[in-house]
Amino acid sequence: MKSSNLGYPRIGEKREWKHALERFWAGDLEETAFLQEMKELRLHHLRKQQEIGIDLIPVGDFSFYDHVLDAAFMFGIVPKRFAQQEMSLRTYFDIARGNDTAVAAEMTKWFNTNYHYIVPEWDDVAPKLIENRPLRLYEEAKEIGIHGKPVLLGPVTLVKLSKGYESFKRAVEALVPLYEQVLSELQEAVWIQIDEPILATDLSDEEFEVLHAAYTKLRKATNSRLILQTYFDSITRYKEVVKLPVDAIGLDFVHDRGENLLSLQQYGFPQEKYLAAGVIDGRNVWRADLKSKQHVLEQLTKIVPNDRLLVQPSASLLHVPVTVKEESLEDTLQNALAFADEKLAEVVLLATGADSAAIEVSSIALQALAASPARNHEAVRKAMQNLPAEVERNSPFTERRELQQARFGLPLLPTTTIGSFPQTAEVRQKRRAWRRGELPDATYQAYIRAEIKKWIEMQEEIGLDVLVHGEFERTDMVEYFGEKLAGFQFTQNGWVQSYGSRCVKPPLIYGDVAFVAPMTVKETLYAQSLVNKPVKGMLTGPITILNWSFVRDDMPRRDVANQIALALREEVEALEDHGIRMIQVDEPALREGLPLKRKHWDSYLADAVYAFKLATTVVRDTTQIHTHMCYSNFEDIIEAIAALDADVISIETSRSHGELIGAFETHTYEKGIGLGVYDIHSPRVPKLSEIERNIARALQVLHPKQIWINPDCGLKTRGIDETVAGLCIMVQAAKRARRQLEAVIQ
Ligand code: GLN
Ligand code: ZN
Repeated sequence: MKSSNLGYPRIGEKREWKHALERFWAGDLEETAFLQEMKELRLHHLRKQQEIGIDLIPVGDFSFYDHVLDAAFMFGIVPKRFAQQEMSLRTYFDIARGNDTAVAAEMTKWFNTNYHYIVPEWDDVAPKLIENRPLRLYEEAKEIGIHGKPVLLGPVTLVKLSKGYESFKRAVEALVPLYEQVLSELQEAVWIQIDEPILATDLSDEEFEVLHAAYTKLRKATNSRLILQTYFDSITRYKEVVKLPVDAIGLDFVHDRGENLLSLQQYGFPQEKYLAAGVIDGRNVWRADLKSKQHVLEQLTKIVPNDRLLVQPSASLLHVPVTVKEESLEDTLQNALAFADEKLAEVVLLATGADSAAIEVSSIALQALAASPARNHEAVRKAMQNLPAEVERNSPFTERRELQQARFGLPLLPTTTIGSFPQTAEVRQKRRAWRRGELPDATYQAYIRAEIKKWIEMQEEIGLDVLVHGEFERTDMVEYFGEKLAGFQFTQNGWVQSYGSRCVKPPLIYGDVAFVAPMTVKETLYAQSLVNKPVKGMLTGPITILNWSFVRDDMPRRDVANQIALALREEVEALEDHGIRMIQVDEPALREGLPLKRKHWDSYLADAVYAFKLATTVVRDTTQIHTHMCYSNFEDIIEAIAALDADVISIETSRSHGELIGAFETHTYEKGIGLGVYDIHSPRVPKLSEIERNIARALQVLHPKQIWINPDCGLKTRGIDETVAGLCIMVQAAKRARRQLEAVIQ
């Protein structure tokens, strides 16, 4: 068997990539020096994979920003507003980041990951080949003696992820000749990998027909061996896909719910084809149990001959950190981890027939973690065995609404914010100093209290109805809770790319999650002690904590979500016991966790709803539960959102009010809802008329008594002045709308 890799992390062991990019953008690095640094990094990654022993080393997977942008750019699919510019490096970055005259292209999540790609815009473009990028990178690798495997994003996935094309079929057909040319110039490459992850989603018959026609042509363009690569789930049309005119099919045998193997066993595999078997988890950080992986390979060799198998990770290693070498976690945990480099070593071991000693080492490491006290928290285990079948509030929403209105006496169209206020350089600097031990605990706490006080006074002055403490004590909404709950660990250097040069360091949920001590009570109570108006307690929800972490893989994700929910429930109770009357549980990541195939949505959403309710339904009828989500295209999950049974939800909608209004025309939503009335992602202060228009639109489809007025999302990335200015205008707009409504009602 040969070993193969699908893609290697770009960022470098010490995030050299990020630093080079940011220096270049800031003008501190000349273009030639920048290109040189990037080339060195790229070649270093190739050499590293060669040293580890990978046979098929990917080239062209490296990117200066995003691989979807790379593909679109190379085919000249450039947003109209940038089309006048020369196709230079500058234009490439302008598309991704915007410039003085044109806004950046939209970015969105890459399938069900936390990686964001730049959405290609087709309006009127006629694609043309700007550069054979894979060829250039193939030649570059050849200079250091590496005959790599060029990697390209396939035409069907590229079009499906784009917007602004008129006809899907015509768009793909326009690309095919360009791909043909790229492939024909790559004749020297033995293998070429074409990624079509879209095959793991629900393609229609017509779409599949288009794909089939495209690959029939691409086949004829080259004698290289074509690998049609899929990942992130099982392929939907197994029987048809394996018949496509390519040499190898790449399948994910980790995140496929066992379906790919089942299809193989049931329908067989074409004799003449290679199977690229993704058996090592490319999306998670745990060491593989080599014995069980060998077992999978044994099953496969019953169907596909040994010499037609390629062993590889289940997906590009873009989604995992570079190496555990840099970490110094406690031994049991450290030994049970495998990042990109270690995963590739596992791939090589499996391909070359791991000896029993290596297998032994992996199973000992995993057994030690399984036996560790962290994974065997007695109280958590017991609670998990006694999970309630039903998790309902005491009374239905309509009754709670009356009780809550009597308690709070809020005006029509109450105003509030999403939770965070500006995390100024000063706030971040104080926190860093405190973390390093340079600032005494008491001084730091006093500083946080002073910030809270300042902003409570500010909110009163602005005239908001429901206040927040401002989240000054939090760096990140998941990390903050992870550091305070049992079962989490944090790496030193476990970065992964999120978008552009921005990297995130997801926590490791490695043990049973348990509540240790109150996490938010101190700050919330202090804020509440300063005012009579209600202050919302502010928590991150179980699904968001789950989706933004690396999660243990020895139990179902649902169980981990419920463990988190049980811990959060204790926090909810603690807040309520201390007199906090409104509690917001944010779930911005709920939607991105949706499975690739519709047929799996219901069970995912049911689990998410259960976990959310497990955390929140313990409260009294008079306590108001809020939630917040960061997306507007929620039409298809509106029922699940209603099922959360939160009394109030705020959602991000200011950029797409039109679409949202449609959602309410076709669905009835009865609970409190705040449709973000202005966009906080830009430093621009909103105009009164804009906010008024957004309020008026909401009033067309929702009952005035349902509507809350709030910005789109948390304000932590904004400056102080623009925040205050924006909120003042928002409150003014709300008051005017309120007066008009009251006049009508009387
Ligand atoms: N409460 C959080 C904040 O305001 C919510 C952030 C988010 O939705 N991503 O920052
Ligand atoms: Zn948000």
